[in-house]
Amino acid sequence: MAYDSNNVFAKILRGEIPSVKIYEDDKTLAFMDIMPSIDGHCLVIPKEAAEGILDLSPDGAAALIKTTQKVARAVKTAFNAPGIMLLQLNGEAAGQTVPHIHFHILPRQAGLDLKLHGKPMENPDKLRGFADKIKAALD
Ligand code: 5GP
Repeated sequence: MAYDSNNVFAKILRGEIPSVKIYEDDKTLAFMDIMPSIDGHCLVIPKEAAEGILDLSPDGAAALIKTTQKVARAVKTAFNAPGIMLLQLNGEAAGQTVPHIHFHILPRQAGLDLKLHGKPMENPDKLRGFADKIKAALD
């Protein structure tokens, strides 16, 4: 399917809608999920226009996983998380709701339940506080 350049992450990349940013380089952007499944839930996207993993260039895929690893390390430190869960959904049938490829990074504590979709919007100040904690843990 052709890439839809009006999806929300494309708009975030173009600066048309706000996001609580954690990290940015020339190929990727990491920011807080606006409807988090758990405190510290964040997203990493490539700047390349690609809907899913099958559409992304090898260079884009390399940059995406590199930033995901970097931010995941910081999330683990910032949230003192014994576990880190990465999620990456491709296509509506797999549950993908935003058609611009992204990795979810979720800090996990044993025994804490996790609901993937249908969460309420989080308070932006709370998200900014979490982003600051993660930024402080980036190397
Ligand atoms: P998917 O279901 O496509 O794997 O995940 C999309 C994620 O994007 C969801 O976790 C959802 O909460 C998040 N999301 C949707 N719209 C926005 C938005 O406008 N800003 C941010 N920061 N996250 C969004």
